[in-house]
Amino acid sequence: MTEPALADTPRQEGAPKAPSIPQTAKKTRVFSGMQPSGELHLGNYVGALQHWVARQDESDNIFCIVDLHALTIPEQIDARALHDNARKLAALYLASGLDPERNLIFIQSHVREHSELAWILNCATPLGWLQRMTQFKSKAQQFESTGTGLLIYPALQAADILLYDTDAVPVGEDQRQHIELTRDIAIRFHRLFGEVFKLPVAVIPEVGARVMGLDDPETKMSKSLAVTRPGHAINLLDDEKTIRKAIMSAVTDSGRETRFAHASPGVRNLLSIYQALTREPMSAVEATFAGQGYGALKKALVEVVWETLRPLQARYHEIMADRAGLEAVLTRGAERAREIASATMQRVRDATGVG
Ligand code: ATP
Ligand code: MG
Repeated sequence: MTEPALADTPRQEGAPKAPSIPQTAKKTRVFSGMQPSGELHLGNYVGALQHWVARQDESDNIFCIVDLHALTIPEQIDARALHDNARKLAALYLASGLDPERNLIFIQSHVREHSELAWILNCATPLGWLQRMTQFKSKAQQFESTGTGLLIYPALQAADILLYDTDAVPVGEDQRQHIELTRDIAIRFHRLFGEVFKLPVAVIPEVGARVMGLDDPETKMSKSLAVTRPGHAINLLDDEKTIRKAIMSAVTDSGRETRFAHASPGVRNLLSIYQALTREPMSAVEATFAGQGYGALKKALVEVVWETLRPLQARYHEIMADRAGLEAVLTRGAERAREIASATMQRVRDATGVG
C-alpha cells in the first residue's frame, strides 16, 4: 500500500486530493482520534477532521475522543473541564459532518481495554523507541515538568489503533512517526508472542497536514499551546472578530511574494490553509493573489474561514442543546467499540498468557 505524498510539498497542478484510503476486500477499517486537551483549531480541521467527513461513506469508521491522552499534560487539567471538553469535542465531530449512524464515535476512557492493552504494549516497547519520538522531545521542552505519561503515550495510541483491527489512520503530518511506531510495536509484539494485530498505515493529506501557528510559523498549531498563547490558533468556535484579528495579525514578512515555492513560512501557511479550505489547485490560488499584497490574502482567508466555521458553529450549538442525544450517541458508540476491543483483548490474553 502506498502512502499519499507529504503535506504541503508544492504540487504543480490539479486540485488538492483528499488523502486516499487504502482499499481492501472488506470495507477498510478507519480509526482516528483527537484529544480533548483544549479547543479544536483549524489545523485539526484541515489536517484530519475534514477528511474524516469527506471519506465517511468509503470505509468502516471509528472515531475516538482520546481523553486519557489529555492527561499527559496534567498541569493543564481541570476535572470538570476535561469531562466537558470530551463532550464538546464529540459535538464538534458531529457538527463537522460526521454522521453518528455511519461512524462509531466514543470516548476512549469508556472502553477500559485501551488502558489494558497500553500496559501490555508498553512492556513490549523498548524505551529508546519512545525517547526518540520528536513530539515527546518538543512537548517535554514546552512544559515545565515531564510526566511519564508523556513519554509512554505513543503505546496508548498504538493500543487505540490496534484494538480495532485498523487498516488506515487519517491524521496530520505530526502523527506520521507515531503511526510508524504503532506498526513497529505490533511487529515486536508478534515476534514476542505471535500474530495478533493488523498493521495499520497512516493516511496524510497533501495540503494542510501541518498548519503552523499564526503567531510563529515555525511551530505547529497546537491545542495545548493555544491555551496560553492568544493569536496562536484559530479555534473552530472563535467568533468572526477573533478570527479576523488572528489572521490579520498573523506573522508574515515585509515582501509581497504569494507563490508557494518562494513564500516565507508565514505566508506559505496562510496560502496552504486557503488552499485546504477552498480545495483549489495551487496554481489557481497563486493566480488569485498574484501581484497583491498580503492584506488581500489575509482578507480573503478571513472570509473563507468564516464561511466554513459559521454553519459548523450553528450545528454545534444545536447539538450541544440536546445533551441527552449526544450522550446517547456516545453510550451507543462505547458499547459497539467494547465489543470489538474485547475480542482483540481476548486474542492478546491468549497470546501472552495473561488472565
Ligand atoms: P495537543 O497540542 O494537545 O497535542 P493537537 O492540536 O496536536 O493538540 P491532537 O488532538 O494531538 O491535536 O491531534 C488531533 C489530530 O489533528 C491529529 O490527526 C493531528 O495529526 C492533527 N493535527 C494536530 N495539529 C495539526 C496541525 N497543526 N496541522 C494539521 N493537523 C494537525
Ligand atoms: Mg497533538
